[in-house]
Amino acid sequence: MSERLQRVTALVTGAAQGIGLGIATALCEAGLKVALADINADLVRQSAHSLTGQGHEAIGLALDVTSAADWSRAVDEATRRWGPLDILVNNAGISPRGTPETTDEALWDRTLAINLKGPWLGIKAALPGLKERRGTIINIGSTRATRPMPGLFAYVTSKAGLLGLTQQVAAEYLDDGVTCNMVAPGWVDTPGERILQAAHGRPDFPAGVQNLTTSEEIGAAVVYLASPAGRKINGVILYLDSGLHIADDAGMVYLPGVARLRYHQPSE
Ligand code: NAD
Repeated sequence: MSERLQRVTALVTGAAQGIGLGIATALCEAGLKVALADINADLVRQSAHSLTGQGHEAIGLALDVTSAADWSRAVDEATRRWGPLDILVNNAGISPRGTPETTDEALWDRTLAINLKGPWLGIKAALPGLKERRGTIINIGSTRATRPMPGLFAYVTSKAGLLGLTQQVAAEYLDDGVTCNMVAPGWVDTPGERILQAAHGRPDFPAGVQNLTTSEEIGAAVVYLASPAGRKINGVILYLDSGLHIADDAGMVYLPGVARLRYHQPSE
């Protein structure tokens, strides 16, 4: 998008790699100043450095989204440099496998802390600036926020919770001009997703896979929601999943001829 956004600053979590880096890159290319924040401090600084090397304004910040103190430091740092935040993108997340029986308490707590509590803490920290700037919050959810899938218990629960949070925040700050939406990707080829595939003995995505969503496409959706054209959009879930969410069996529409693909086959 060549037209500069009226909004000027953004903070993106989980931006060292994958979807978060795709979003940060798209926002930079749209002319914004972007704080890339991630628990992987070295990698996020490298990623920000690479963007500044391409002529963009970017900084890399260490942030564990589960820590209120980290949030306070990250928002302060970005604000000190560039003024109050216009855009907060809560992207950091993990997607562990497990059923209600195989998920232990530690995994539940960790998943809910990163995927659900993290966005809340970020919103709380960024809200003073967002209110001042009539800014926007974009939470990265998943098709699984509304379409459960066997074997993704804590993940699905966290993303469904994030959708509730998204709508509640949208309602709460209507009068402040702060909007809050969810972008819900389908399946995306990212470093994190490849690690999960490998853990299931798959060196690559399954043969025949179609219509993978790309990090660039998610970046473009975030740029749209954050642009002046997106100002009227509030409290929605924007799916980028080629229609996976309307498939009638919650299966993977990406695999033609395969009616249902589970992470856990009965024989596993
Ligand atoms: P990824 O694992 O490749 O990248 C995630 C990034 O988040 C990493 O850089 C990691 O260091 C960072 N992170 C993890 N825990 C953190 C914490 N506590 N604080 C700060 N940063 C932390 O993942 P991805 O595939 O790019 O996924 C990004 C988001 O998109 C997640 O919320 C995920 O649920 C969602 N999503 C991914 C897919 C997919 O198929 N890849 C599909 C739907 C939704």
